[in-house]
Amino acid sequence: MNEYDSNRIYDITSKIGFHKTLEKNEADCLVLNTCHIREKATEKVYHEVGRVKKNFRNKKKPLIIISGCVAQAESEEMIKREPYIDIVIGPQSYHKIGDLIINYQKKKKKINATKFEVIRKFDELGKIPNSQNTISSYLTIQEGCDKFCHFCVVPYTRGPEYSRPFDQIMLEAKNLINNGAREIILLGQNVNAYNFKKNNKNFRLSSLIRELNDIKNLERIRFTTSHPKDMTEDLISCYGDCKKLMPLLHLPIQSGSNKILKAMNRKHDIKHYLSVYEELKNINKDFKISSDFIVGYPGETEKDFQDTINLIKKIGFVNSYSFIFSPRPGTPAAEKKINDITVSKKRLKKLQNTLENFQHDNNKNYLYQYCEVLIENKLDNQAKYFGRTKHMTPVIIESASCKPGELINVKITSCSQNYLFGFKIINKKVKAA
Ligand code: SF4
Repeated sequence: MNEYDSNRIYDITSKIGFHKTLEKNEADCLVLNTCHIREKATEKVYHEVGRVKKNFRNKKKPLIIISGCVAQAESEEMIKREPYIDIVIGPQSYHKIGDLIINYQKKKKKINATKFEVIRKFDELGKIPNSQNTISSYLTIQEGCDKFCHFCVVPYTRGPEYSRPFDQIMLEAKNLINNGAREIILLGQNVNAYNFKKNNKNFRLSSLIRELNDIKNLERIRFTTSHPKDMTEDLISCYGDCKKLMPLLHLPIQSGSNKILKAMNRKHDIKHYLSVYEELKNINKDFKISSDFIVGYPGETEKDFQDTINLIKKIGFVNSYSFIFSPRPGTPAAEKKINDITVSKKRLKKLQNTLENFQHDNNKNYLYQYCEVLIENKLDNQAKYFGRTKHMTPVIIESASCKPGELINVKITSCSQNYLFGFKIINKKVKAA
């Protein structure tokens, strides 16, 4: 989502005369768009500002703007602690960045813009075309979260759940497709909670997918990140009806133990998660799931951890993320006693090894098979291209004649844990997996 926000921040600042530069030590303005999910996020921001300060020691001071969730969480404190920072903007206020810069340039007075103005934000953004022109493009449809998992800062930094108007999203999608997008990834902190009401009609994520599925020049649809509780029947049925909806779902589970899920306030249990998985598998036996795992959550015992390993073995997740629990200030889990870090590190290593083995085995299954790949770009100075399979696996293709945006059949000849390698098959009749 920060990538989407950063692009939109650029779209707004370009309206007041700024343009992108790769020479960051020559910039007139630096925007650090921050994320609060990872550990020590706040300290990393001060570190980065310190680095900028050093690089500009004998030069004109650039305008320093901190945006995103760290800005929201730290707010006024940032300006007090680091006077080199000029403007702090929360994720729901970045639509005002142009006006704030002009204001600062006139008055030279520090600005803290961290109010939740999500409705106005999307109304304002709707007036500025999205300039993103990548084959695979992000599109934010929903923001915020009402779930309040005990370890997570999102409900505090992004605010309550908000769904953008259906028509506004479709307009932006068509704009992205006109810019060259062939894949759209619908985004939201809780994307499958999308629910927009108009004239007594409810528009859900499934409504958006069905509408997008009918757009001629769009090849692929994905969405992230989902909550297991919001995997409703109308959404699941899209996997059977909408050809362009890809058979990979990122569905965070966090733990394989019901006791830990309850302690996390996750509002779903393992039985429910498995029932969603089985329904999806019944629709398409080639369906795959990726997930997020937190290891060493307060109170996690060896048995709880083993339950997580058993769940991984049962489902065989691909492309998953895993971390040791680290407390976020202000969340209920931050009050709990932390587990022994040596034990947690050992558990993380074991869990990651298990996930990596599944990932590698999954890639080996592609060997000497044909698969459909969406070409995203050419690799610099090489007769090679980069693309992805339906399951998001990156593929390096040897070919002198691919076009970004093209869907091609590829024969896979080798693989590593993270990549597949192959060549383009010209015969269109080859059946692709
Ligand atoms: S559902 Fe996701 S975004 Fe919402 S509180 Fe839980 S982890 Fe955070």
